[in-house]
Amino acid sequence: MPRYFINTLGCKVNRFESDAVGMALTSQGWTETQKPSDADVCVINTCTVTGKASVESRHHIRQTIRKNPSAKMVVTGCYAQTEAAEIEKIEGVDAVISHTEKHQLPELIIALYEKGEAHFSEDRNASCRETLFKGINVDALGTRTRPLLKIQDGCNAFCSYCIVPHTRGRSRSMPVAEVMDRLASLGEKGYLEVVLTGIHIGCYGMDLTPVTSFYALLKQMKEAGSVRRVRLSSMEPMEISDEIVDLITSSPYFCDHVHIPLQSGDDTVLSRMKRPYTTKRFKELVTRIHTLSPTTAIGADVIIGFPGETDTQFENTCHFLESLPLAYLHVFPFSPRERTPAASFDGRIDSDTMKHRTARVRAIGNAAKQRFMDAAVGTRAEVMVEKERDRQTGLLKGLTSHYIPVQIEGGDHLMNQLVPVTLEAAPDSGHLMGRREER
Ligand code: SF4
Repeated sequence: MPRYFINTLGCKVNRFESDAVGMALTSQGWTETQKPSDADVCVINTCTVTGKASVESRHHIRQTIRKNPSAKMVVTGCYAQTEAAEIEKIEGVDAVISHTEKHQLPELIIALYEKGEAHFSEDRNASCRETLFKGINVDALGTRTRPLLKIQDGCNAFCSYCIVPHTRGRSRSMPVAEVMDRLASLGEKGYLEVVLTGIHIGCYGMDLTPVTSFYALLKQMKEAGSVRRVRLSSMEPMEISDEIVDLITSSPYFCDHVHIPLQSGDDTVLSRMKRPYTTKRFKELVTRIHTLSPTTAIGADVIIGFPGETDTQFENTCHFLESLPLAYLHVFPFSPRERTPAASFDGRIDSDTMKHRTARVRAIGNAAKQRFMDAAVGTRAEVMVEKERDRQTGLLKGLTSHYIPVQIEGGDHLMNQLVPVTLEAAPDSGHLMGRREER
C-alpha cells in the first residue's frame, strides 16, 4: 500500500488540514510514515506568516526532496499560495496546490501517485478567491487526543502587517449543520475534548444564509453536549461580546481558556497596525473575563518592534502587559511581509533593539505563566491525558481546562481520558504534577 509523509508548518488551521488529508488517504488504504525516506508521496504544508516561516518552508521542501528524490513531492499551504512560481522551479516538486484547491488534495495526491499527474494550481501567486467554505470530505477527524475542528477560514480584516487575508482569502464559514454533525461524530467516536479552530472564528456565520453568529453556534454546541469540553482557539478582542464572555465563563462545557491577540499595548501602534480596538477596550474585556472567572487562562499575542515603535511606545506595551491578569504570552518579533502596507513603513527597528525588546516581553510572559501556575497549586482539575507519555519522565502528560500542562503517574488505560487530579508543584519543570483522586 502507498505510504505518505506530511510535514506541517504554521498554525492550527494548517494542522487541521493536514490531519484531514491524512485521514482521507488512510481511508483509501494508504499508511502514514514519519520518515520522508520511506514515503511514496511527501506533502509539505507550508506557512508564510513571518519571514522565518517562509525560510523554514523552503528549507523543508528542499530537505525532503534530498532525503527521498524518488517520492512524489506535493507543496501546499500559505507559502505555496504566495510563492507558487518560485516553488514550481524547485527540481523535484510535482504539485503546488493553492488554498482554492486544497479541499481536493487527497484526490490530487492519489492521481499524482497512480497516474503520475502533476498538478500546479492556476491561481498561483494570487490571493485565494474562494468564497465558499470547502473542507476535505472526511467523516470525522481525530487522530489526536484533542482533535481540531476547523469551522471557518479566511479573514476580512487586513491588519497592516498581516499576509493572511492575501493567502487565505475572505472569511467563510462551515454551515452550522455540518459543524454540529462533525462535533457529534467526534463525540460518538469517544473524543472528549475538541478544539474549535479557524483563522478568524469570531467572524463565524456572518457569511452564511441566514446570517448567524459565533455566539449562536456556541450556544447550540453547549445544548447538544456532544463532547465533554470544547476549547476555543484565538478570538479577536472586538468579537468577544459580553454574551460570549458570559456563556464561556459560566459553563464548564467551554474550557477555562481564552486566547486574545493584543499585538501592542500602545494605542498609536495599534492604530498603525489597523487593529480596530484600543488598550482601554482590551483591558475592559480581560478584566471582565477575569472577574467572572479568575481561574480562566487568558493568553495574548504581542508583536514586538512594529516599524516606528518608539522606546516610549514599547514601555507602554510592557506596562500594559504587566497590568493585566494574563496566564501566558506568545511573542513575535515583527517580520515584514511583502504586499502588506507595514512592509514599506519607515522606522524599521534595528536587530539589537529587537532582540532586547523581545527578550523583555518574553520575560514578562514567563513571569505571568509562573504566577498563573503557582496559583493553581492545591486546586482540583481534570486533565485530558494524551496518548503518548512524556519522553523525559516517562509519565502521562496532558492539559487542564485552563491550559496548564500536567504530568501524572499511572497506566496506559488513562490515555485519552479526562482524569481528575489535585495539582501539585513541580519546580523548574514547566508543568505541574497531578495527584490522582481516589474514586
Ligand atoms: S485579524 Fe488581522 S492579524 Fe488576524 S488574520 Fe485577519 S488580518 Fe491577520
